[in-house]
Amino acid sequence: MCPMELLKQKILAEGRALNEHVLLVDCFLNHQVDVKLMKAVGEEFARRFADAGVTRIATIESSGIAPAAMTALEMDLPMVIMKKSVSSILKDGIIQTEVFSFTKNAPYLLTLKTQFIKPGDNVLLIDDFLANGEAAFGGISLLEKAGAKVAGVGAVIAKAFQPGMQKLRAAGYRVEALAPVRRMAEGLIEFGE
Ligand code: 5GP
Repeated sequence: MCPMELLKQKILAEGRALNEHVLLVDCFLNHQVDVKLMKAVGEEFARRFADAGVTRIATIESSGIAPAAMTALEMDLPMVIMKKSVSSILKDGIIQTEVFSFTKNAPYLLTLKTQFIKPGDNVLLIDDFLANGEAAFGGISLLEKAGAKVAGVGAVIAKAFQPGMQKLRAAGYRVEALAPVRRMAEGLIEFGE
């Protein structure tokens, strides 16, 4: 079975559509992490973006870290994590943008220390989910403000019936979704764009 078929089988076997909008995958992606599956995810992102001239991987804490780290390892590139909360030791040289959280239903300040992005970087942004595109657009705006280009966005799961994927593509960004979901209902998950 091809690796992304494995991912879809895992989503069907262990994921749970709570309703038409929210998919719970904390058995292998958001809480407990299936690292072997994440390794396959990293290999697949590396394969899909092999021609994109990527110089750095970026992600958003915390659920993007596992797939992003595996992608960075496979592509032999540095990785940077954008923060959702600012600690007292993270003060200097930071840029921030407000993002509306899909899961918390509240805004947060996405934060990036600019020293970890070099002008001229071509960054691949990896995240666990793509829904309305809030997190991705927030990440892109910080990366571009820091002087980088965005090579594309890689989502492990993209809910194609929510507007994020379409909005990103309409804005000219390349989006690769390993498991696009076209419809969900309680107990039902249907793949497709
Ligand atoms: P967006 O910003 O595109 O609306 O939502 C993406 C972010 O919200 C992801 O970083 C992810 O953590 C979270 N998210 C969106 N939809 C889901 C979902 O159905 N299930 C889970 N577990 N997280 C989601």
